[in-house]
Amino acid sequence: MSSEPRTEKDWYSILGARPSDSPAELRQKYQKLALLYHPDKQRRDISAEQEAEGARKFIEISQAWKILGNEETKRTYDLRRRDGEMTRSFPVDNQIHIEDMIWHEDEEYYYYSCRCGGQYIADKSDLQQTSLVNCDSCSLIIEILQEAQR
Ligand SMILES: [Zn+2]
Repeated sequence: MSSEPRTEKDWYSILGARPSDSPAELRQKYQKLALLYHPDKQRRDISAEQEAEGARKFIEISQAWKILGNEETKRTYDLRRRDGEMTRSFPVDNQIHIEDMIWHEDEEYYYYSCRCGGQYIADKSDLQQTSLVNCDSCSLIIEILQEAQR
């Protein structure tokens, strides 16, 4: 595991893309920028600073694509990003111990009723990535407290 910086760059905005873009749209935006800033495509008459800036941009774009162009790393990044946004924009409404949630046998997920009548739903893979779950019908969020593995 490589160590990741605590504050991550917004890879979407580096590509001029949005989180809602499809993989094909992301690829298109990446390719357009990569072509624009590719060291081999730079004009001959630009200054050394412009050349350095172009090279820096090209590296940044490549990094963004390395993360967003791969299904696995994109998913991990999206989840981290969502957690960050959720903690910033909404306060956590409640803390729930995982034992207090109800396990849905057939569908294999945990659920917990929200006071709005909606539900908080989390499956096991969600819980490996995040402890924050939002209600499926309002903007409330709960933090799920999990016991350490025994
Ligand atoms: Zn709710």
